Amino acid sequence: MNENIKLVLLSCCAPCSAGAIKQLADGSIAGVTDFIVLFYNPNIFPESEYTKRMHEQIKYCESLGVKYAVLEYDHDAWRDCVRGFENAPERGARCNLCFQYRFRRAVKFARDNGYDAIASVLGVSRHKDQSQVDAAAIVTCDNISYMPVKWDENLRVQINRESDFYRQNYCGCEFSIRKV
Ligand code: SF4
Repeated sequence: MNENIKLVLLSCCAPCSAGAIKQLADGSIAGVTDFIVLFYNPNIFPESEYTKRMHEQIKYCESLGVKYAVLEYDHDAWRDCVRGFENAPERGARCNLCFQYRFRRAVKFARDNGYDAIASVLGVSRHKDQSQVDAAAIVTCDNISYMPVKWDENLRVQINRESDFYRQNYCGCEFSIRKV
């Protein structure tokens, strides 16, 4: 696959996705001719925090005129998925399950809506391990291509510097609060 790619970009928040979305909007990712930003983050707690991050994501997408979709906030189901691993460290087993949970839903969204590839910004934060995110995507992406794009970090930093994004100080779930 190298042309006319219809891509779903799985995003966690505006600060992490800003550069990637700009690159896609500018047409600078080879082969991608259509894309949508997917906000699917049932891991985020509490719901008020989820709402803040979602609004920032929507605001940024609308400022660039790019398509986006927001899926359900099924935090209780997400909690079931990570049960037994609540005390695992960040970058550990709980995060594997969390990434896979979100990628699985992104794959379903892509299939249901005629997209044929998935990329993400889940590994962009300095607190994340990109190879862990890639591994979770690879085991989850079934009949859909996974594009492990290395996003332009300088662009992301520049946009963040120039923006007034709401910036959180923890990854997302209740188990990551005050652990970063
Ligand atoms: S620390 Fe972040 S990636 Fe890990 S389980 Fe919590 S929300 Fe998911």
